[in-house]
This record gives sequence, structure tokens and C-alpha cells, in this order.
Amino acid sequence: MPQPRLFTTRAEVTHVRSDAGRVALVPTMGALHEGHRALLARARQRPDVDSVWVSVFVNPLQFGPNEDFDRYPRDLEADLAVCEQEGVSAVYAPSTTEMYPLGQPMVTVRAGAMGDILEGASRPGFFDGVLTVVTKLFTILTPDVAVFGEKDAQQLAMVRRLVTDLSLSPEILGVPTRRATDGLAISSRNVYLSAAERHTSLRLSQALRAAETARSGGVSAVWEAARKELDVGASDAPPLRLDYLALVDPDTFADVGEGYSGTAVLAVAARVGTTRLIDNVRIIL
Ligand code: AMP
Repeated sequence: MPQPRLFTTRAEVTHVRSDAGRVALVPTMGALHEGHRALLARARQRPDVDSVWVSVFVNPLQFGPNEDFDRYPRDLEADLAVCEQEGVSAVYAPSTTEMYPLGQPMVTVRAGAMGDILEGASRPGFFDGVLTVVTKLFTILTPDVAVFGEKDAQQLAMVRRLVTDLSLSPEILGVPTRRATDGLAISSRNVYLSAAERHTSLRLSQALRAAETARSGGVSAVWEAARKELDVGASDAPPLRLDYLALVDPDTFADVGEGYSGTAVLAVAARVGTTRLIDNVRIIL
């Protein structure tokens, strides 16, 4: 595969964009892994796409003051190697000053009510930061298609809402979560986990699987099956500290009640040691 072209400024992108045809963009924070590869494979499959582009940017706006911005894994050389293997044509990896030349931006995108629940409640300002940077990436790179993982289900729902509410152009594609063989959803943050922490972390995917198996019993059975598994996790060593467990509508992330029928998302977030993990599964009720 030819090496992807590396761009770090908007000026460089603008120069080549019109020759790139229809572009599928995969926005990432780098530290590329099998989950990102699944997105790249999906982008490549699109017959109407001429080139796949990746952005690599650890966006300070979406990290809280006590979060892992400084220790977030960064390895652009390795990311470029993955992109080369996956047939990516261009990588956009801007510096923080390129993206935010005046420092903390004054004008930002507000995620609204859906941005204040679940992930947004645990991480105030997170979705404002995500939607602001996604809007900027769409403006700079003008993709025709943008690919996001279902691993971050609330983020995917919020990006869809962003595109509709602000009349943005790209078509949004969601890609199912890629898991390790032990069931753990693959994430750049998994590198923080010790062996014992990783063992505890498996409770998340186990809880989601148990819930899925219980779906014929309806909302309360799904809920109970997941809770049971997570309760056991709370007594593991190190313990799993549950942040939230929610059964929600996939578009609005509003809680679904007893008697709901249709597709729901069971979303979970927990801390193991100092690492915060999220996972979810779609359940047809
Ligand atoms: P990140 O680099 O963590 O911001 O993720 C970039 C994109 O990759 C987001 O759309 C994520 O939802 C997606 N992603 C991350 N991990 C996975 C995974 N295990 N399976 C599928 N998509 C993923």
C-alpha cells in the first residue's frame, strides 16, 4: 500500500481536497487499534468513496481537568503504519494551536440536553468538546461520509443529532464494536489496565451478554441480569465501581420503561482502578 499523506495544517488539506474525490473520514484520537481498523475497513467498503482519510487529534476540549489528557497514549508513527496497512490516503494530525489558534475557543457547539445525561453527566462538557471538534473537522476536511464506532453509542447519537440540527453535510455511518477474544471492548485506554484490572473489567461485557440473553423477559429481566453480574464485579479485587447502567432509546438516550418494545441500548460505564471504561449493546425488546 502507498504511504498515506500526512497533513498538519488546514492550508495543506485545502490544497489537495478537490483532487481527492469523495472522502470517507474516520475521526480518531490516535493510538489506533483493532476497533479503529474496523471503522477503516467499513469506510473502504463503500463503493462511492474514492479515498479514506483519518484525523488524529487528542482534543483537549473534551477532557475534564482531572482526566487523562496528559497521559493519553500518543504514537503518530505507529498510527501512520496502521493507516498504511489499511489503505488510508491521508492523515490529518493538527497541533492543538492549529486547531485552536486563539487558545480556549469562545464560540463552541452546545450539545444540549442529551449531552448532559449518562456520559455527559459523568464528564461535564465532554459532548460540547466532541461536537465542537467534529464540526471543525467536518469544516476543514469536508468529508462526504464520516465513520464512528457504536462503542461510543451516545457520541454516535449526538453526532447524528449535530448533523441534523446544524444541517451539516456528511453521511454518518456507525460500525459495531470490535471486541478482544475475552469480550472486552477494545479501547485505547485498555493499555492502562493491569492483568487483575483487566480481569475485573470483563464484568462489563459479561453483564451486557447476560442482559442480551435475558431479553425475552423484557426490560426488568434485562436490567436484573446485568445488575447481577455488575454486583459480583463490585466484590472483585480490584473492584468494579459502577458509574451508570442505563437502558435507553438509541436515538435520544432517554430511559426506556417497562413494556418497551423495539431496539434499546444497554449502556454501562465503570471505573476499574484509575481507568474509566464504557461499553454497550443493542438489545431488541
Ligand atoms: P477514539 O480514538 O477512542 O476517539 O475513537 C475513534 C473512533 O473509533 C470513535 O468513533 C470510536 O467509537 C471508534 N472506536 C473506538 N473503539 C472501538 C471499538 N472497539 N469498536 C468499534 N469502534 C471503536
